[in-house]
Amino acid sequence: MPKTDRDFLTDYLAQRDEPCPSCRYSLKGLQGNVCPECGQALMLRVGLVEPRLAAWVFGLIGISAGFGFSLLLSIYFLLLIAAYGWDYFGGITELIALFGGLTVSGAELAVWLPMRRRLCRWGTPARWFTASGAATLALIGPIAFLGLVR
Ligand SMILES: [Zn+2]
Repeated sequence: MPKTDRDFLTDYLAQRDEPCPSCRYSLKGLQGNVCPECGQALMLRVGLVEPRLAAWVFGLIGISAGFGFSLLLSIYFLLLIAAYGWDYFGGITELIALFGGLTVSGAELAVWLPMRRRLCRWGTPARWFTASGAATLALIGPIAFLGLVR
């Protein structure tokens, strides 16, 4: 008779002192697939040694920071223009930096979010180079705007 998932779980826990992922109760020697302490059903799964998510998370933080920064500055300056008129704000260069930054970082976010799995298959230099580039690109708009505006 072939081994079931439950048999593999029992074999695995026969030798190892693993805590229940829900309540931390020691599952060593467990018979069956239910935690005796909290009653949650348990399963054995395969995990990655190094999930390789760091570069994607780093890129996501950079892009989100650029997008959030651009969005807040855009709202703030639209309110200032509405209250005090265009003269308060001034130049078209600043406007391009601000709304260009908002558009670029927003587009990056739309591309970056579904890219997690694909990025994890790339080599380490390619992952970090892409994540750093994406984060830098997202931050250029709002930083240029702050440099331009007085
Ligand atoms: Zn438990």
